[in-house]
This record gives sequence, structure tokens and C-alpha cells, in this order.
Amino acid sequence: MLIPARMSEAEEQRWVTFMLDKLAAQENKRVLGDTELSERAARLSELYFDGRARPTSVRWVTNQNTRWGSCTPAEGSIRLSHRLQGMPEYVVDYVLVHELAHLLVPGHGADFWRLLEAYPRTERARGYLEGVVAADRLPHLPAARGE
Ligand SMILES: [Zn+2]
Repeated sequence: MLIPARMSEAEEQRWVTFMLDKLAAQENKRVLGDTELSERAARLSELYFDGRARPTSVRWVTNQNTRWGSCTPAEGSIRLSHRLQGMPEYVVDYVLVHELAHLLVPGHGADFWRLLEAYPRTERARGYLEGVVAADRLPHLPAARGE
């Protein structure tokens, strides 16, 4: 990786993180199909929740622009916003893990976040998504609005 000269160590670290995220996003250009998405959710449930979260359906939706993901625990269905497509894999995984956790614990109480601690990239993924929302709101970047 080519690092611009005269960067402080902290700047260099930020640069490396930024470039790695950018690379990850490029690798993720190939969009997962709904079947692959279901398989991925099953794998994540196995890894982080001993397979206790068992969604009946996991799919992309295009009508969800204010939330990254949602679920209907009674039906066991999980929906992910198509806006996540092209984001780094760990971010998509975080949203899946988040919705899987809702099949076990409704709401965002302490119990819920304790479950999410099992996923090691929770904080980083939340930071990434907050950054996307913040960038969306920048008045001088109208093109970032997406839809
Ligand atoms: Zn939630």
C-alpha cells in the first residue's frame, strides 16, 4: 500500500483504515443474492448466538431508506436495506447480527447490547454507518443523498 509521505502515525493509521475499508467495499461490489444472504445469516447465528436465532427469511428490500435493517420476530423475517450493498462486508454482517439478535431480544436494552458484544466489529460498524448518515446530511454534498 502506498502511504503519502510526511504523515503522522495517527494520520497514517487513519489512512490505512480508510484504504482497507475502501478495498473491502470494492471486493463487496458483487451483491449477495437472497439465498446467500440467508446462508450468511445462518452462519453468523451459529458463530455468535450458538445458532439460537433462526430466521425464516432474509432478504434485501429497496423500500427501506431510513433503517439499515428490520425484522418481524413473530414471523422470523429479516429485511436489509439495499443501501448496504457495496458497503464493507463487516458492516453488512453487523446489521445481520443486529437483526438476528432482535429475534432473541426485542428493543435496544442492556440485554440486547450484551448479545451484540459477541460480534467483534460492532463498534467499528456502528461508526461506519454513523459516518454514512452524517455524510448524507452534509448540505454541500447533495449527490450523497442516494435515492
Ligand atoms: Zn435494532
